[in-house]
Amino acid sequence: MPDSTPHDLIIIGGGPGGYTAGIYAQRAALKTVLIEKGIPGGQLNNTDEVENWPGTEKISGSELALKFSQHAAVYGLEVMNREVVGVEPGLGFHTVTLDNGEILATHAVILATGGSPKKLGIPGEDKYYGKGVSYCAVCDGFFFRDKTVVVVGGGDSALEESLYLAKLAKRVYIAHRRDAFRAGMILQKRVANEKRITVLWNTVLAEIQADAQGVNGVITKNTLDGATATLATDGVFVFIGFEPNNGLVPAGTRMNANGYVIGDDKCETNTPGIFAIGDLKEKYAKQIVTAAADGCTAALAAAHYVESKKGGA
Ligand code: NAP
Repeated sequence: MPDSTPHDLIIIGGGPGGYTAGIYAQRAALKTVLIEKGIPGGQLNNTDEVENWPGTEKISGSELALKFSQHAAVYGLEVMNREVVGVEPGLGFHTVTLDNGEILATHAVILATGGSPKKLGIPGEDKYYGKGVSYCAVCDGFFFRDKTVVVVGGGDSALEESLYLAKLAKRVYIAHRRDAFRAGMILQKRVANEKRITVLWNTVLAEIQADAQGVNGVITKNTLDGATATLATDGVFVFIGFEPNNGLVPAGTRMNANGYVIGDDKCETNTPGIFAIGDLKEKYAKQIVTAAADGCTAALAAAHYVESKKGGA
């Protein structure tokens, strides 16, 4: 018979933060379920190679994601493959509503819903999505073998994914709106040394154009003098940052102006028992290792919270 007693902890989101929270929660003997609507790993699956997960010099994003889920399985973490449609704070218990209408009661919730790629908002971007416009080099790079692509952005993602695309495409243009990259120096050096990459400084895209076969060009605009030009390309990859997936954050929970949840040093929000971690949380460094660290912190704090609540403290 299924156990219908309330959960101690519900973790929403199966990225590095969510799985780390799951491992720590299981080790703390909390009755826990992790709910994930997609495949384990979240954005990690869109990353070609991870080179800054300590102890592992190089590993593919999808392999590391699999390792996280396998590690959690060793501790018997229950994983539910469903979409959460609502989180309602309560005095006795918080409730989590699933897409099938099922309502789960829980003492604590860890929101680990991460972020989604930001869009440029230019003509042609939505229309040609999947027809040459992409937000994931690992997923779609294969279709651009020996072709030309334009990557937009100047952060770690744009440079990392440009280097990945340069292994497949014959020419990669990076269009960046300023004259200096935001990305770390190691990536900047690699890009400078990659002959297949050409950087278009002070450049934004004004429009994406296509024919019946898909994307065939972009209109670029110089950010200094406003000059426009047409550039032939078979694809456009957009890596201009992420927006937090904050749709499940309960009303009244504090967020900053950009929609990131504000948490304390325990990753707890201003709603007791509701924690926010990883890319959803306001913080300086958005890394796999910092998402995992948040997961650890929130799970330990949730264990303490649940214990105090059950003990009537
Ligand atoms: P990001 O660091 O926020 O960089 C976004 C880039 O896109 C910036 O260069 C920004 O230009 C540009 N941009 C933003 N809006 C734009 C627009 N409307 N039009 C044109 N360009 C625009 O985002 P990210 O690269 O996705 O990285 C997100 C976080 O994940 C960061 O903290 C990053 O360090 C981390 N990350 C780390 C790794 C790694 O460690 N290997 C890999 C991937 C991501 P400006 O520079 O002018 O603002």
